Amino acid sequence: MCGIIGISSNKPVSASIISSLKKLEYRGYDSAGIATLFEGEIKEVKSEGRVNTLEQNFDLKNLKGNIGIGHVRWATHGIPNSVNAHPHSSHNVSVVHNGIIENSTILKKYLTTKGHIFKSQTDTEVIVHLITENLKSNELEEAIKKTLKQLHGSFALGIVFKDIPDLIVGARRGSPLAVGYGPSENYLGSDSYALKSMTNKITYLDDGEFCIIKKDQVLFFNEDGKKINKKILELSSDESSYDKGDFKHFMAKEIEEQPTTVKTGIKEYVDKTNSDINIYNFPWNINEINSITLIGCGTAYHSCLMAKYWFEELTQLDISIDIASEFRYRKNRFKKDTLYIFVSQSGETADTYAALDLCNKNNMKTCAVVNIIESSIARDANFVLPIHCGPEIGVASTKAFLGQILILYILALKLASLRNEINQKIYKEKIKDLQKLPNLIEKSLLIDNDIQAISSTFNEAKGSMFLGRGLSYPIALEGALKLKELSYVHAEGYPAGEMKHGPLALIEDGMPVVVLAPRDSYYKKTISNMQEVIARGAKVLLITNKSKDEIVSENIWETIEVENINDDLLPFLLTIPLQKLAYYSALKKGYDIDKPRNLAKSVTVE
Ligand code: GLU
Repeated sequence: MCGIIGISSNKPVSASIISSLKKLEYRGYDSAGIATLFEGEIKEVKSEGRVNTLEQNFDLKNLKGNIGIGHVRWATHGIPNSVNAHPHSSHNVSVVHNGIIENSTILKKYLTTKGHIFKSQTDTEVIVHLITENLKSNELEEAIKKTLKQLHGSFALGIVFKDIPDLIVGARRGSPLAVGYGPSENYLGSDSYALKSMTNKITYLDDGEFCIIKKDQVLFFNEDGKKINKKILELSSDESSYDKGDFKHFMAKEIEEQPTTVKTGIKEYVDKTNSDINIYNFPWNINEINSITLIGCGTAYHSCLMAKYWFEELTQLDISIDIASEFRYRKNRFKKDTLYIFVSQSGETADTYAALDLCNKNNMKTCAVVNIIESSIARDANFVLPIHCGPEIGVASTKAFLGQILILYILALKLASLRNEINQKIYKEKIKDLQKLPNLIEKSLLIDNDIQAISSTFNEAKGSMFLGRGLSYPIALEGALKLKELSYVHAEGYPAGEMKHGPLALIEDGMPVVVLAPRDSYYKKTISNMQEVIARGAKVLLITNKSKDEIVSENIWETIEVENINDDLLPFLLTIPLQKLAYYSALKKGYDIDKPRNLAKSVTVE
């Protein structure tokens, strides 16, 4: 989490830092700050809240200096206030940090005995004083190398020095960091998104590396302090997709972009002429894989669960799924014939990355399903399946979820075909059906009026439940997560058949319950479960697909019908009303839809 920006230029940098910080706010937004170097002094401004508040509180136009660093925070150590906001500075060093320093307590004790005085509750401040201490007896590069070795945990750092006023140091372990190259200026940033308005020439730091950025030169070093050369990548620059356009929020835009997300995914992987799937350079012989473990966090975990149903339906492979933060600390039985698939929008999710790292260290077959192809997870996995959905800025994931499940469905189909576990006629029919999806998603998006009217009931209730069976169960979980994330009301996703084993006790008069009951093989069973909750007073919103057959149940509060497609693909369509329900609930409450409280995109801390 958190966003870092650094600029070394031949002209004042504060305005560019501010506009980059605004782009980085999706990564953290509980406080913001900037430090510049001007006339031999470190000038530091910071405040609680958003970048806008920082702008209101300080006259940033007069914040002079051709070198500076900026930060938007997602607090891990110390409450979000202006004292704990970054940058943190000593008399000669100023630091912005993304990550967690695990040995900060020990280092703080040591530094206190050396006379250093701490002002904040953050773990970050030890980095400032450690560098200050190490600079007493070492040249810059040596002091940095020594400091980084003393730090345990994860970090991306931007550092400026009062007495070395022409450079910024960047360093990385565990948290992402990129360097950008511009005309008579160079940059440091948490991601290429923040740098894209200034440059499309980027170098990503790898773990353990650090760099020195001057306005006309960038030097890279490995963890032993040896100079290294690194490649400059040219990113495609599609600036237009980065703004909200006519939409009020990125989330609204991203929901509406989903037909394109699916169209792009299909274009990338489907050979329409031959009704086949192209997955180029798959690095393993198909006979070497007998089982698949899918790993993710949050929405990406729901994608994994979704995929489990498809893989089991289409193939004979053994499928297991895992939450990354649980997987990484469990005693795992690594098996040579297992393919490990890591799902993450950003490709920087710390827990998912750690799980990947663990599998790589055990020489497992690893595959990444990510949106950002330059990310750490993409770079370190043996094989990458990009979802190509473009930047997703809304913190609550929407189009990336659809992108992830699309790729996982495509992979399940392809493996089923390669393993001769699907009849070729059915395989080709399913590929044809897939191509109908973008159009059907587009139609399913036209439900704003219905959803707006329903959403207040969910806001006003103490809590709500989202029920589904089979392929609809992961979607129920995802729908509940969206509502929690955005409108801060308790919502629980549950397998509909499990209600009678406990949660039915929660149902009381007027409680809103979403029931996902498309007319698939689970339909009748789900409708029975729906009747059980209606009988106990629940106000049921039934989400099903269009059909000539009447729904045989009474007292349903509201019904939404999505378009028709084969059962496998219904989850795509069922997702849409749930995303809109969460969106309109939050909108009515006046909450910050793109930046829900306590959350941040790209969870780069453990
Ligand atoms: N651990 C640091 C803090 O709490 C950095 C958090 C961040 O990544 O924003 O200030």
